[in-house]
Parts: sequence; structure tokens; C-alpha cells
Amino acid sequence: MTQVTSSGSGEGAEFRIGSWERPDPAGIVLRGEAVGFRGYVEKLGEPPVCYVGSRPGEACDQPAVMEVYDIPMCQAHGQEAAAGALEELAHDFEQEIKRPMNPYVRRLSPHIERALNLASLPRDKEARNTRGGERDGDLLRAFPLDRGRADGETLAYVEDPDNHGRGRQDSPFDAFMQDRMLLHRHMRLAFEEGAHWLVETLEREREGVAAQAAYALALERAAGLA
Ligand SMILES: [Zn+2]
Repeated sequence: MTQVTSSGSGEGAEFRIGSWERPDPAGIVLRGEAVGFRGYVEKLGEPPVCYVGSRPGEACDQPAVMEVYDIPMCQAHGQEAAAGALEELAHDFEQEIKRPMNPYVRRLSPHIERALNLASLPRDKEARNTRGGERDGDLLRAFPLDRGRADGETLAYVEDPDNHGRGRQDSPFDAFMQDRMLLHRHMRLAFEEGAHWLVETLEREREGVAAQAAYALALERAAGLA
């Protein structure tokens, strides 16, 4: 059986998808020289404003510094959306591509197994980088707690967890994060099809869900539930 270790051509294959130096191959997260609105900046002398939360009375108004799914975003909102987009990519990779390497499915030939292992090394690192503490910080910076807008179920849960689902599998935060992941998946598919109008429409929904996830995280932490 072929053993794949971290030595050989796999070592040093680390790269940050969407990094300054190297945009992700799919072009979902673009920063620095790679952003698509550079022509706009050259013409008008300034970047477009962040698209997030630009409903009446809710404009972000910060200058865009990056793009996620071709949508201009400021640093805080872009970082949050990029983290969600990259987490969805990593999740998709694990579900679809690494599935044949699950020990419970029929063994692959050693050749294809080795190739898949090598291919997955840099993505495994990316997946680890986009989870946990960094992700939570990105969410809280992008959508600081606005208690008046928090979802009723979240408020009920943190105020009286015993009567509103304590012990259930998913806290409000977990449930909103699952919704966010699903929206990211739809946005990636729309992005890949070039359906920009659909990406923009879904982004409005995604922002709403991401904001509720952030509020739930802040409230659950404050209540000692997360
Ligand atoms: Zn913004």
C-alpha cells in the first residue's frame, strides 16, 4: 500500500487561497492587485464603496478593498464573507473529493489515493485556517451586536435556555452558520455560472444570516452558552 507522508513533492505546497500573492484559482476571493475594480479606481480616482448592508439606511460606506464573488467589500465585511466562502470551498472539497478516501468506502487504487492525498494537502491547511477562532472574530467584527435586530428565537434561547432548546443539537448560532454555508454554496454555483444578478441577490440574504449568526454568537457567549 502506498504511504503518503508530508515529505516529497507535497511538502511546501502550502498556499493561501485568496492571498495577496496568489488569488484563489476559482477567483472567488480577490485582493490587492487582483481586484476587478482597478479600472474603476483609475477612472474615478477612488474605489467603489462596500456593497454589504447598502439597503436604505444601512449603507456600509467604507471603501472597498477586496472582492468576494465579484462583489466589492470593505476589509471587515470582505474578511467575513471570504472566510465563509473559503470554508464552503473546503467543506465541499472534503465532502466531494475526499469522500473516496473515507475508510468505510471501497478502497481506491494506491495510485489514485496517492494523487488525491497530495492534491488535498494545501486545501487541508486552508480548511484549518478558515475555522475556529479566526472565523468567529471575523463574524463579530463584520456584524457587531445589535440586540434590537437579533432574531426572536436567539433572544428566547439566551434568556431562558431551559425552555427554549437547551441541549438540542444546534444552538441558534449553529443553525445560522449552517444556513450561511448553504447560501455560500448557492453563491459559488451562481458565481461559476456567471449569474451576477443572482450572486448579488443571494448576498443580501447571506448578509442577513451572517449578521444573525454573529448576534447569536455574541449573545450565547454573554449568556455562558457558547
Ligand atoms: Zn463594508
